Amino acid sequence: MDYPGNLFVVAAPSGAGKSSLVKALMELDSQVQPSVSHTTRAPRGQEKHGREYFFVSQQEFDSMVLGGAFVEWAHVHGNRYGTSKKAVEERIASGTDVVLEIDYQGALQIKRIFTNAVLVFILPPSWEELRSRLERRGEDSPEVIEMRLKNAAEEMAQAREFDFVIINELFERALFDLKAIVHAQRLKFTAQRRSRADTFKALNII
Ligand code: 5GP
Repeated sequence: MDYPGNLFVVAAPSGAGKSSLVKALMELDSQVQPSVSHTTRAPRGQEKHGREYFFVSQQEFDSMVLGGAFVEWAHVHGNRYGTSKKAVEERIASGTDVVLEIDYQGALQIKRIFTNAVLVFILPPSWEELRSRLERRGEDSPEVIEMRLKNAAEEMAQAREFDFVIINELFERALFDLKAIVHAQRLKFTAQRRSRADTFKALNII
């Protein structure tokens, strides 16, 4: 199905800078909106229900799975996360661009359902840099950092399934790359014909 809004899916191992890039993109481009996922993990720090996530119990998550409320869901680092149909379909159908910041398993499920979804994988420039970013962040114990690095190897092996790869070495450069991907989607024939219908009509292009 061809929706008027684009669906961007951004995945990365933790520490690659995915959240900062997506946040910066949305600050610059009000046409791109996030989708708020549901999760069974507990809120961290200042996180608010309905803003970062909808924090739900295992039972609530189960009943959403059974009720077919999710377009995708996955186990990530010991918790469950899911994207609700509602968060995506209504908005891309109304012409809004939506960005999903989810793990690679979810990204691949999305591509099977929304074949036009644009999958972007963010890579760190090296193992050393990934490790040092995780250490500098100071959020995780040494054991958790080792686990995240081990998971990163598995996650990065999936980058080949994605449409685009951004290497986040310099933040500004990576942001430029992400904006370029978003911009290019808006220049596609069908997108231009939709957004510039009058021009196309005047030029007799159908
Ligand atoms: P965190 O708990 O640190 O916010 O997120 C942990 C991981 O879960 C990240 O890789 C994040 O992108 C992923 N994640 C967040 N929401 C979803 C979702 O709705 N579906 C899937 N498959 N992964 C998600």
